[in-house]
Amino acid sequence: MSFAGAALGLTLLSMAPDLDVVAFAFGIPYEAPFGHRGASHAIATALLLAGVFAALPRRAGVSRHVVLVLVFAVVVSHGLLDTLTDGGRGIALLWPLDNTRYFAPWRPIPVSPIGAGLLSTRGARVMLTELVVFAPAWLWALWPRDRSAKLMDDE
Ligand SMILES: [Zn+2]
Repeated sequence: MSFAGAALGLTLLSMAPDLDVVAFAFGIPYEAPFGHRGASHAIATALLLAGVFAALPRRAGVSRHVVLVLVFAVVVSHGLLDTLTDGGRGIALLWPLDNTRYFAPWRPIPVSPIGAGLLSTRGARVMLTELVVFAPAWLWALWPRDRSAKLMDDE
């Protein structure tokens, strides 16, 4: 697997928890277990997805352990970062054990508008803020270096 392919796949996977916005179309309330920021944002779901991806047939010798750790980190980070946002009703991090919605004590990230609202002045402000907040991570990820050996195992 190429680094660019893995980066693109993991980027898409990092956004997957927000596919739960379809719940609104089905009339599922925000605060329901399968409402927005519910089960899809839970630690258990991140573990489940990591297990599923690690169990998939391997391509290009990528270690199952690497897949497990990367997929878990990428998916769980979404819910954890959402706890740092200043809107919504919190994140069901402990679902299915507990549907309590959690926020971090410090919430510096403005919550993103949903749907077409993202294409507003407020949406642009949120995207600019996220660009600045995550700039160090982007710099680290895109910094040129040889990454080919780190994703492979010897099996
Ligand atoms: Zn989210």
